[in-house]
Amino acid sequence: MDFMYNEVQEMLKDSIKRFVEKEVSPHVDEWEERMEFPIEVMKKLGENGFLGIPYPEEYNGQGLGYQEYIIVLEEIARASASLAIAVAVNGLPQLIIDKFGNEEQKRKYLPKLSTAEITGGFALTEPDYGSDAKSIKTFAERRGDRYIINGTKRFISQAGVADLYILLARTQNTGSSHDITAFIITKDMKGITFGKKERKMGLNATATREIYLEDVDVPVENVVGKEGYGFKIAMMALDSGRITIAATAIGIAEAAKDCALRYAVTRRQFGKPIVEFQGVSFPLADMETKINAARLLTQRAAFLRDRGLPYSKEAAMAKLFATDIAMEVTTNAVQVMGGNGYMKDYPVERYMREAKVMQIVEGTNQIQKLVISRHMVREISRTL
Ligand SMILES: Cc1cc2nc3c(=O)[nH]c(=O)nc-3n(C[C@H](O)[C@H](O)[C@H](O)COP(=O)(O)OP(=O)(O)OC[C@H]3O[C@@H](n4cnc5c(N)ncnc54)[C@H](O)[C@@H]3O)c2cc1C
Repeated sequence: MDFMYNEVQEMLKDSIKRFVEKEVSPHVDEWEERMEFPIEVMKKLGENGFLGIPYPEEYNGQGLGYQEYIIVLEEIARASASLAIAVAVNGLPQLIIDKFGNEEQKRKYLPKLSTAEITGGFALTEPDYGSDAKSIKTFAERRGDRYIINGTKRFISQAGVADLYILLARTQNTGSSHDITAFIITKDMKGITFGKKERKMGLNATATREIYLEDVDVPVENVVGKEGYGFKIAMMALDSGRITIAATAIGIAEAAKDCALRYAVTRRQFGKPIVEFQGVSFPLADMETKINAARLLTQRAAFLRDRGLPYSKEAAMAKLFATDIAMEVTTNAVQVMGGNGYMKDYPVERYMREAKVMQIVEGTNQIQKLVISRHMVREISRTL
Protein backbone atom coordinates (compact mmCIF):
# COMPACT_ATOMS: atom_id res chain seq x y z
CA MET A 1 0.00 0.00 0.00
CA ASP A 2 1.36 3.39 -1.02
CA PHE A 3 1.09 6.18 1.55
CA MET A 4 1.43 8.93 -1.09
CA TYR A 5 -1.32 10.07 -3.43
CA ASN A 6 -0.51 9.27 -7.06
CA GLU A 7 -0.74 11.89 -9.82
CA VAL A 8 -4.41 11.17 -10.62
CA GLN A 9 -5.36 11.35 -6.93
CA GLU A 10 -3.48 14.65 -6.48
CA MET A 11 -5.25 16.13 -9.51
CA LEU A 12 -8.59 14.91 -8.27
CA LYS A 13 -7.99 16.39 -4.82
CA ASP A 14 -7.03 19.75 -6.37
CA SER A 15 -10.02 19.85 -8.68
CA ILE A 16 -12.62 18.90 -6.05
CA LYS A 17 -11.04 21.40 -3.65
CA ARG A 18 -11.42 24.16 -6.23
CA PHE A 19 -14.98 23.08 -6.97
CA VAL A 20 -15.90 23.12 -3.27
CA GLU A 21 -14.30 26.54 -2.69
CA LYS A 22 -16.30 28.05 -5.54
CA GLU A 23 -19.60 26.18 -5.55
CA VAL A 24 -20.11 24.89 -2.02
CA SER A 25 -18.37 26.77 0.84
CA PRO A 26 -19.90 30.22 0.19
CA HIS A 27 -23.45 28.83 0.26
CA VAL A 28 -23.50 26.21 3.04
CA ASP A 29 -24.93 28.40 5.80
CA GLU A 30 -27.78 29.51 3.57
CA TRP A 31 -28.64 25.92 2.52
CA GLU A 32 -28.63 24.75 6.13
CA GLU A 33 -30.63 27.73 7.34
CA ARG A 34 -33.27 27.38 4.64
CA MET A 35 -33.23 23.55 4.88
CA GLU A 36 -32.90 23.47 1.09
CA PHE A 37 -31.01 20.82 -0.84
CA PRO A 38 -28.71 22.35 -3.50
CA ILE A 39 -29.81 20.11 -6.35
CA GLU A 40 -28.15 22.41 -8.89
CA VAL A 41 -24.75 21.90 -7.19
CA MET A 42 -25.34 18.13 -7.14
CA LYS A 43 -25.95 18.37 -10.89
CA LYS A 44 -22.70 20.33 -11.33
CA LEU A 45 -20.85 17.64 -9.34
CA GLY A 46 -22.29 15.12 -11.81
CA GLU A 47 -21.43 17.20 -14.86
CA ASN A 48 -17.84 17.47 -13.59
CA GLY A 49 -17.54 13.70 -13.19
CA PHE A 50 -17.33 13.66 -9.37
CA LEU A 51 -20.32 11.34 -8.92
CA GLY A 52 -19.09 8.60 -11.22
CA ILE A 53 -15.58 8.11 -9.80
CA PRO A 54 -15.64 4.34 -9.11
CA TYR A 55 -17.92 3.28 -11.98
CA PRO A 56 -17.04 2.04 -15.48
CA GLU A 57 -16.38 4.63 -18.18
CA GLU A 58 -18.91 2.98 -20.52
CA TYR A 59 -21.64 4.14 -18.09
CA ASN A 60 -20.30 7.71 -17.76
CA GLY A 61 -18.09 6.76 -14.81
CA GLN A 62 -14.44 7.65 -14.31
CA GLY A 63 -13.21 4.04 -14.09
CA LEU A 64 -11.33 4.79 -10.84
CA GLY A 65 -11.79 3.27 -7.37
CA TYR A 66 -12.93 3.91 -3.83
CA GLN A 67 -9.48 5.26 -2.95
CA GLU A 68 -10.28 8.16 -5.28
CA TYR A 69 -13.95 8.36 -4.31
CA ILE A 70 -13.11 8.95 -0.61
CA ILE A 71 -10.83 11.85 -1.53
CA VAL A 72 -13.80 13.55 -3.17
CA LEU A 73 -16.18 12.79 -0.31
CA GLU A 74 -13.79 14.06 2.36
CA GLU A 75 -13.31 17.36 0.53
CA ILE A 76 -17.05 17.87 0.05
CA ALA A 77 -17.73 16.99 3.71
CA ARG A 78 -15.19 19.55 4.92
CA ALA A 79 -17.56 22.17 3.58
CA SER A 80 -20.98 20.49 3.57
CA ALA A 81 -21.79 17.20 5.27
CA SER A 82 -25.31 17.48 3.81
CA LEU A 83 -23.98 17.46 0.26
CA ALA A 84 -21.47 14.69 1.08
CA ILE A 85 -24.22 12.49 2.51
CA ALA A 86 -26.36 13.08 -0.60
CA VAL A 87 -23.41 12.00 -2.76
CA ALA A 88 -22.87 8.91 -0.59
CA VAL A 89 -26.58 8.05 -0.72
CA ASN A 90 -26.64 8.52 -4.51
CA GLY A 91 -23.76 6.03 -4.54
CA LEU A 92 -25.85 3.21 -3.06
CA PRO A 93 -28.15 2.70 -6.10
CA GLN A 94 -25.12 3.31 -8.31
CA LEU A 95 -23.07 0.53 -6.77
CA ILE A 96 -26.03 -1.85 -6.42
CA ILE A 97 -26.99 -1.46 -10.09
CA ASP A 98 -23.34 -1.63 -11.16
CA LYS A 99 -22.62 -4.79 -9.18
CA PHE A 100 -25.93 -6.66 -9.30
CA GLY A 101 -27.98 -5.06 -12.08
CA ASN A 102 -28.44 -6.58 -15.53
CA GLU A 103 -27.09 -4.92 -18.68
CA GLU A 104 -30.40 -3.21 -19.44
CA GLN A 105 -30.62 -1.71 -15.93
CA LYS A 106 -27.00 -0.53 -16.10
CA ARG A 107 -27.54 1.19 -19.46
CA LYS A 108 -30.81 2.72 -18.36
CA TYR A 109 -29.80 4.13 -14.97
CA LEU A 110 -26.05 4.22 -14.35
CA PRO A 111 -25.06 6.95 -16.85
CA LYS A 112 -27.85 9.21 -15.55
CA LEU A 113 -26.95 8.62 -11.88
CA SER A 114 -23.29 9.40 -12.59
CA THR A 115 -24.09 12.70 -14.26
CA ALA A 116 -26.91 13.52 -11.80
CA GLU A 117 -29.40 13.72 -14.65
CA ILE A 118 -31.33 11.72 -12.07
CA THR A 119 -30.40 11.26 -8.40
CA GLY A 120 -30.87 8.24 -6.18
CA GLY A 121 -31.69 7.02 -2.68
CA PHE A 122 -31.78 3.80 -0.67
CA ALA A 123 -34.85 2.66 1.25
CA LEU A 124 -34.34 -0.09 3.81
CA THR A 125 -35.29 1.26 7.28
CA GLU A 126 -38.91 1.05 8.47
CA PRO A 127 -40.70 2.52 11.50
CA ASP A 128 -40.42 -0.78 13.42
CA TYR A 129 -37.17 -2.12 11.95
CA GLY A 130 -33.88 -0.22 11.89
CA SER A 131 -30.87 -2.24 13.09
CA ASP A 132 -32.99 -5.39 12.74
CA ALA A 133 -33.21 -4.87 8.98
CA LYS A 134 -33.85 -8.49 8.07
CA SER A 135 -37.28 -8.25 9.78
CA ILE A 136 -38.67 -5.51 7.50
CA LYS A 137 -42.37 -5.82 6.66
CA THR A 138 -42.81 -3.92 3.38
CA PHE A 139 -44.26 -6.60 1.12
CA ALA A 140 -44.02 -7.13 -2.62
CA GLU A 141 -46.63 -9.58 -3.86
CA ARG A 142 -45.89 -11.23 -7.19
CA ARG A 143 -48.76 -11.07 -9.70
CA GLY A 144 -47.67 -12.43 -13.08
CA ASP A 145 -44.91 -10.21 -14.42
CA ARG A 146 -45.56 -7.47 -11.81
CA TYR A 147 -45.09 -6.96 -8.09
CA ILE A 148 -47.57 -5.00 -5.96
CA ILE A 149 -45.69 -3.31 -3.11
CA ASN A 150 -47.20 -2.06 0.15
CA GLY A 151 -45.42 -0.67 3.20
CA THR A 152 -43.71 2.28 4.84
CA LYS A 153 -40.03 3.26 4.82
CA ARG A 154 -38.63 5.64 7.41
CA PHE A 155 -35.73 8.12 7.71
CA ILE A 156 -34.96 7.92 3.99
CA SER A 157 -32.31 10.44 2.95
CA GLN A 158 -33.22 12.48 -0.10
CA ALA A 159 -36.75 11.03 -0.11
CA GLY A 160 -38.89 13.21 -2.32
CA VAL A 161 -35.79 14.82 -3.85
CA ALA A 162 -34.24 11.72 -5.45
CA ASP A 163 -35.80 10.34 -8.62
CA LEU A 164 -34.90 6.68 -8.10
CA TYR A 165 -34.61 4.41 -5.04
CA ILE A 166 -33.36 0.94 -4.34
CA LEU A 167 -36.16 -0.37 -2.14
CA LEU A 168 -35.94 -3.53 -0.06
CA ALA A 169 -39.15 -5.53 0.39
CA ARG A 170 -40.17 -9.03 1.42
CA THR A 171 -41.30 -11.31 -1.37
CA GLN A 172 -41.96 -14.26 0.98
CA ASN A 173 -43.05 -14.42 4.58
CA THR A 174 -41.03 -17.23 6.12
CA GLY A 175 -39.09 -14.75 8.31
CA SER A 176 -35.78 -15.59 6.62
CA SER A 177 -33.43 -12.93 5.21
CA HIS A 178 -33.75 -14.89 1.92
CA ASP A 179 -37.30 -13.52 1.65
CA ILE A 180 -36.05 -10.03 0.83
CA THR A 181 -35.71 -8.64 -2.70
CA ALA A 182 -34.19 -5.39 -4.04
CA PHE A 183 -36.35 -3.30 -6.40
CA ILE A 184 -35.74 -0.19 -8.43
CA ILE A 185 -38.62 2.20 -7.81
CA THR A 186 -39.02 5.69 -9.19
CA LYS A 187 -40.55 8.78 -7.64
CA ASP A 188 -43.25 9.05 -10.31
CA MET A 189 -44.71 5.55 -9.76
CA LYS A 190 -48.41 5.57 -8.86
CA GLY A 191 -49.00 4.83 -5.15
CA ILE A 192 -45.77 6.37 -3.86
CA THR A 193 -46.09 9.36 -1.52
CA PHE A 194 -43.63 11.07 0.78
CA GLY A 195 -43.97 12.17 4.41
CA LYS A 196 -43.13 15.57 5.84
CA LYS A 197 -39.53 16.72 5.96
CA GLU A 198 -38.19 15.49 9.33
CA ARG A 199 -36.79 18.19 11.62
CA LYS A 200 -33.27 17.08 12.45
CA MET A 201 -30.33 17.96 14.71
CA GLY A 202 -28.12 18.46 11.65
CA LEU A 203 -27.77 17.78 7.92
CA ASN A 204 -30.61 20.21 7.48
CA ALA A 205 -29.97 20.78 3.80
CA THR A 206 -30.84 17.14 3.10
CA ALA A 207 -34.44 16.00 3.18
CA THR A 208 -35.19 12.98 5.37
CA ARG A 209 -38.70 11.64 4.95
CA GLU A 210 -40.92 8.60 5.16
CA ILE A 211 -41.93 6.87 1.95
CA TYR A 212 -45.43 5.38 1.77
CA LEU A 213 -46.10 2.64 -0.74
CA GLU A 214 -49.72 1.80 -1.50
CA ASP A 215 -50.31 -0.85 -4.15
CA VAL A 216 -47.27 0.32 -6.09
CA ASP A 217 -47.19 -1.64 -9.32
CA VAL A 218 -43.58 -2.52 -10.19
CA PRO A 219 -42.62 -4.56 -13.27
CA VAL A 220 -40.53 -7.69 -12.70
CA GLU A 221 -37.69 -6.15 -14.75
CA ASN A 222 -37.14 -3.72 -11.84
CA VAL A 223 -35.88 -6.52 -9.59
CA VAL A 224 -32.14 -6.10 -9.03
CA GLY A 225 -30.27 -9.41 -8.94
CA LYS A 226 -32.63 -12.28 -8.18
CA GLU A 227 -35.69 -12.55 -5.98
CA GLY A 228 -34.54 -13.40 -2.45
CA TYR A 229 -31.08 -11.85 -2.85
CA GLY A 230 -32.05 -8.40 -1.60
CA PHE A 231 -30.74 -8.68 1.94
CA LYS A 232 -27.34 -9.88 0.72
CA ILE A 233 -27.27 -7.03 -1.81
CA ALA A 234 -28.22 -4.47 0.85
CA MET A 235 -25.56 -5.69 3.28
CA MET A 236 -22.86 -5.66 0.59
CA ALA A 237 -23.91 -2.15 -0.41
CA LEU A 238 -23.73 -1.03 3.23
CA ASP A 239 -20.18 -2.44 3.49
CA SER A 240 -19.18 0.01 0.74
CA GLY A 241 -21.40 2.73 2.16
CA ARG A 242 -19.55 2.52 5.46
CA ILE A 243 -16.33 3.57 3.72
CA THR A 244 -18.12 6.64 2.36
CA ILE A 245 -19.53 7.54 5.80
CA ALA A 246 -16.04 7.19 7.30
CA ALA A 247 -14.67 9.60 4.66
CA THR A 248 -17.51 12.04 5.34
CA ALA A 249 -16.81 11.91 9.09
CA ILE A 250 -13.11 12.56 8.46
CA GLY A 251 -14.00 15.62 6.36
CA ILE A 252 -16.16 16.98 9.20
CA ALA A 253 -13.41 16.30 11.77
CA GLU A 254 -10.75 17.98 9.59
CA ALA A 255 -12.89 21.08 9.22
CA ALA A 256 -13.49 21.25 12.99
CA LYS A 257 -9.81 20.79 13.80
CA ASP A 258 -8.80 23.50 11.29
CA CYS A 259 -11.28 25.94 12.76
CA ALA A 260 -10.18 25.23 16.36
CA LEU A 261 -6.48 25.47 15.47
CA ARG A 262 -6.88 28.80 13.70
CA TYR A 263 -8.80 30.10 16.69
CA ALA A 264 -6.27 28.79 19.21
CA VAL A 265 -3.31 30.53 17.58
CA THR A 266 -5.07 33.90 17.41
CA ARG A 267 -7.18 34.01 20.60
CA ARG A 268 -5.20 35.45 23.52
CA GLN A 269 -5.85 34.94 27.24
CA PHE A 270 -3.52 35.65 30.17
CA GLY A 271 -1.27 37.59 27.77
CA LYS A 272 -0.59 34.81 25.26
CA PRO A 273 -2.24 32.78 22.51
CA ILE A 274 -4.35 30.01 24.08
CA VAL A 275 -2.51 27.41 21.95
CA GLU A 276 0.43 27.93 24.33
CA PHE A 277 -1.59 26.27 27.11
CA GLN A 278 -1.21 22.48 27.05
CA GLY A 279 -4.88 22.22 27.97
CA VAL A 280 -5.52 23.55 24.44
CA SER A 281 -2.56 22.26 22.41
CA PHE A 282 -2.80 18.63 23.61
CA PRO A 283 -6.42 18.14 22.49
CA LEU A 284 -5.37 19.64 19.14
CA ALA A 285 -2.52 17.10 18.94
CA ASP A 286 -4.97 14.30 19.74
CA MET A 287 -7.32 15.55 17.00
CA GLU A 288 -4.54 15.54 14.41
CA THR A 289 -3.35 12.06 15.39
CA LYS A 290 -6.80 10.48 15.49
CA ILE A 291 -7.92 12.04 12.19
CA ASN A 292 -4.82 10.65 10.51
CA ALA A 293 -5.40 7.21 12.05
CA ALA A 294 -9.03 7.25 10.87
CA ARG A 295 -7.96 8.22 7.35
CA LEU A 296 -5.47 5.35 7.22
CA LEU A 297 -8.15 2.84 8.31
CA THR A 298 -10.52 4.22 5.69
CA GLN A 299 -7.90 4.20 2.94
CA ARG A 300 -7.08 0.57 3.80
CA ALA A 301 -10.73 -0.49 3.53
CA ALA A 302 -10.93 1.32 0.16
CA PHE A 303 -7.65 -0.24 -0.98
CA LEU A 304 -8.92 -3.77 -0.22
CA ARG A 305 -12.24 -3.05 -1.94
CA ASP A 306 -10.51 -1.73 -5.05
CA ARG A 307 -8.54 -4.97 -5.29
CA GLY A 308 -11.58 -7.19 -4.92
CA LEU A 309 -10.36 -8.46 -1.52
CA PRO A 310 -12.59 -8.95 1.55
CA TYR A 311 -13.13 -5.60 3.23
CA SER A 312 -16.30 -5.92 5.30
CA LYS A 313 -14.51 -5.95 8.69
CA GLU A 314 -12.15 -3.15 7.62
CA ALA A 315 -15.06 -0.99 6.39
CA ALA A 316 -16.87 -1.48 9.72
CA MET A 317 -13.71 -0.59 11.68
CA ALA A 318 -13.16 2.50 9.54
CA LYS A 319 -16.79 3.62 10.01
CA LEU A 320 -16.73 2.94 13.74
CA PHE A 321 -13.43 4.68 14.39
CA ALA A 322 -13.81 7.62 12.00
CA THR A 323 -17.29 8.53 13.21
CA ASP A 324 -16.38 8.14 16.89
CA ILE A 325 -13.34 10.36 16.48
CA ALA A 326 -15.38 12.88 14.47
CA MET A 327 -17.73 13.17 17.45
CA GLU A 328 -14.78 13.55 19.83
CA VAL A 329 -12.90 16.02 17.61
CA THR A 330 -15.92 18.23 16.97
CA THR A 331 -16.89 18.26 20.66
CA ASN A 332 -13.34 19.20 21.67
CA ALA A 333 -13.18 21.83 18.91
CA VAL A 334 -16.18 23.55 20.52
CA GLN A 335 -14.38 23.38 23.87
CA VAL A 336 -11.14 24.86 22.46
CA MET A 337 -13.14 27.79 21.15
CA GLY A 338 -14.96 28.41 24.44
CA GLY A 339 -18.15 30.47 24.17
CA ASN A 340 -17.48 31.25 20.52
CA GLY A 341 -17.49 27.52 19.80
CA TYR A 342 -21.11 27.39 20.95
CA MET A 343 -22.18 30.29 18.75
CA LYS A 344 -23.55 29.94 15.25
CA ASP A 345 -21.11 32.64 14.09
CA TYR A 346 -18.56 29.82 13.86
CA PRO A 347 -19.23 26.49 12.13
CA VAL A 348 -17.94 24.11 14.84
CA GLU A 349 -21.32 23.72 16.56
CA ARG A 350 -22.70 22.59 13.18
CA TYR A 351 -19.83 20.11 12.76
CA MET A 352 -20.65 18.66 16.19
CA ARG A 353 -24.31 18.18 15.22
CA GLU A 354 -23.31 16.65 11.89
CA ALA A 355 -20.77 14.26 13.42
CA LYS A 356 -23.45 12.75 15.67
CA VAL A 357 -25.53 11.28 12.89
CA MET A 358 -22.50 9.60 11.34
CA GLN A 359 -22.45 7.29 14.39
CA ILE A 360 -26.04 6.27 13.56
CA VAL A 361 -26.39 5.88 9.77
CA GLU A 362 -25.32 2.88 7.63
CA GLY A 363 -25.62 0.73 10.77
CA THR A 364 -25.14 2.25 14.21
CA ASN A 365 -21.71 1.99 15.76
CA GLN A 366 -22.99 -0.77 18.03
CA ILE A 367 -23.89 -2.70 14.89
CA GLN A 368 -20.37 -2.07 13.53
CA LYS A 369 -19.03 -3.72 16.69
CA LEU A 370 -21.29 -6.71 16.04
CA VAL A 371 -19.95 -6.96 12.47
CA ILE A 372 -16.31 -6.66 13.59
CA SER A 373 -16.61 -9.14 16.46
CA ARG A 374 -18.44 -11.67 14.24
CA HIS A 375 -15.57 -11.49 11.74
CA MET A 376 -13.08 -11.96 14.59
CA VAL A 377 -14.91 -15.04 15.87
CA ARG A 378 -15.07 -16.49 12.35
CA GLU A 379 -11.35 -15.85 11.85
CA ILE A 380 -10.31 -17.48 15.14
CA SER A 381 -12.73 -20.38 14.62
CA ARG A 382 -10.85 -21.35 11.47
CA THR A 383 -7.70 -21.88 13.54
CA LEU A 384 -9.32 -23.90 16.35
C1 LIG B 1 -30.44 11.45 9.18
C2 LIG B 1 -30.69 10.01 8.90
C3 LIG B 1 -30.67 9.55 7.60
C4 LIG B 1 -30.95 8.20 7.30
N1 LIG B 1 -30.96 7.79 5.99
C5 LIG B 1 -31.38 6.52 5.72
C6 LIG B 1 -31.55 6.11 4.35
O1 LIG B 1 -31.29 6.86 3.40
N2 LIG B 1 -32.01 4.86 4.11
C7 LIG B 1 -32.33 3.98 5.11
O2 LIG B 1 -32.74 2.85 4.82
N3 LIG B 1 -32.16 4.34 6.42
C8 LIG B 1 -31.71 5.59 6.74
N4 LIG B 1 -31.56 5.99 8.05
C9 LIG B 1 -31.89 5.04 9.11
C10 LIG B 1 -30.69 4.52 9.87
O3 LIG B 1 -29.98 3.61 9.07
C11 LIG B 1 -31.22 3.92 11.17
O4 LIG B 1 -31.62 5.00 11.98
C12 LIG B 1 -30.20 3.06 11.88
O5 LIG B 1 -29.94 1.88 11.14
C13 LIG B 1 -30.67 2.68 13.29
O6 LIG B 1 -31.97 2.19 13.27
P1 LIG B 1 -33.05 2.80 14.30
O7 LIG B 1 -32.99 4.27 14.20
O8 LIG B 1 -34.34 2.13 14.04
O9 LIG B 1 -32.50 2.42 15.72
P2 LIG B 1 -32.70 1.02 16.48
O10 LIG B 1 -32.34 -0.10 15.58
O11 LIG B 1 -34.03 1.00 17.12
O12 LIG B 1 -31.58 1.14 17.59
C14 LIG B 1 -31.75 1.90 18.79
C15 LIG B 1 -30.48 1.69 19.64
O13 LIG B 1 -30.33 0.30 19.96
C16 LIG B 1 -29.06 -0.16 19.55
N5 LIG B 1 -29.15 -1.54 19.09
C17 LIG B 1 -30.08 -2.09 18.26
N6 LIG B 1 -29.83 -3.39 18.08
C18 LIG B 1 -28.69 -3.67 18.76
C19 LIG B 1 -27.90 -4.85 18.95
N7 LIG B 1 -28.22 -6.00 18.35
N8 LIG B 1 -26.80 -4.76 19.71
C20 LIG B 1 -26.46 -3.59 20.31
N9 LIG B 1 -27.16 -2.45 20.17
C21 LIG B 1 -28.26 -2.49 19.41
C22 LIG B 1 -28.66 0.77 18.41
O14 LIG B 1 -27.24 0.79 18.22
C23 LIG B 1 -29.20 2.09 18.90
O15 LIG B 1 -28.29 2.67 19.79
C24 LIG B 1 -31.24 7.30 8.36
C25 LIG B 1 -31.23 7.76 9.68
C26 LIG B 1 -30.98 9.09 9.95
C27 LIG B 1 -30.99 9.55 11.39
